[in-house]
Amino acid sequence: MRTEFLPYCLPMIGEEEVQEVADSLRNGWVTTGPKVKRFEEAFAEYVGARHAIAVNSCTAALHLTLAALGIGPGDEVIVPTLTFCSTANVVVHTGARPVLVDVNPRFQIDVDAVEQAITERTRAIVPVHYAGQACDVDELIALAKRHGIAVIEDAAHAAGASYRGRKIGTHGMAAAFSFYATKNMTTGEGGMITTADDQLAERIRLLSLHGMTRDAWKRYSEAGSWYYEVTESGFKCNMTDIQASLGIHQLRRLDGFVQRRREIATAYRSAFADLPQLQLPEERPD
Ligand SMILES: *Cc1c(COP(=O)(O)O)cnc(C)c1O
Repeated sequence: MRTEFLPYCLPMIGEEEVQEVADSLRNGWVTTGPKVKRFEEAFAEYVGARHAIAVNSCTAALHLTLAALGIGPGDEVIVPTLTFCSTANVVVHTGARPVLVDVNPRFQIDVDAVEQAITERTRAIVPVHYAGQACDVDELIALAKRHGIAVIEDAAHAAGASYRGRKIGTHGMAAAFSFYATKNMTTGEGGMITTADDQLAERIRLLSLHGMTRDAWKRYSEAGSWYYEVTESGFKCNMTDIQASLGIHQLRRLDGFVQRRREIATAYRSAFADLPQLQLPEERPD
């Protein structure tokens, strides 16, 4: 029997992360700089995505993606009932209406129920890969295609997860990852958007930093220029080099973190296997 409190998902921060953060504090790049770019490139390569845009949370990642798609008042966005509140909160922030749809025994949004919830106002589905297991991605994307709506994946639990041979972050129109302290890897607070869509990526980037024209951070470096335009009223969701310092090293350890979580899940699964009172979550083979 355990006697002390068992904390929930303590982050595993190594000496390399500590040294990298110290390097940022000493080199003076305390806000968005070259390490954010390195982290974005490394994450895009890991996932196999065309673009990766680092921001300060998954909540911001989801909000910016909806905003970049022009979703707003009068629109509906379908979200699962079982999720963290920000999946629905961000829909409210855009002025659109979140439409809650129930989940299946794998804890993933139910595709038939999604189909029934689609109206002429529906603009997007935001499925959650709950507990790091993929939702019914192909079925949802096929359904969305038939109705001309977007699938934006809430991949907050799914950094390192795969579906049918490809990493999560390469299937829907865009995917939003979380690097909050309890997630698969952490930057303290942080998030990432992956997408294959050039225009969407550019618009998310613009909206993430005040609506200032591209690579505005470069204005602080020798290579950059002080000249920029503010082309619309953007938000303020950029990641800092201090956060990216953590991310660069956490990403290298991500497969190990996922492996360790699987070991723990397997231990619970076998410990609970003989209890008829419990129905254990199903895991799909693909
Ligand atoms: C944690 C979480 C979020 C929000 O992530 P932040 O990085 O804390 O903004 C969104 N969706 C789900 C399913 C989450 O678990």
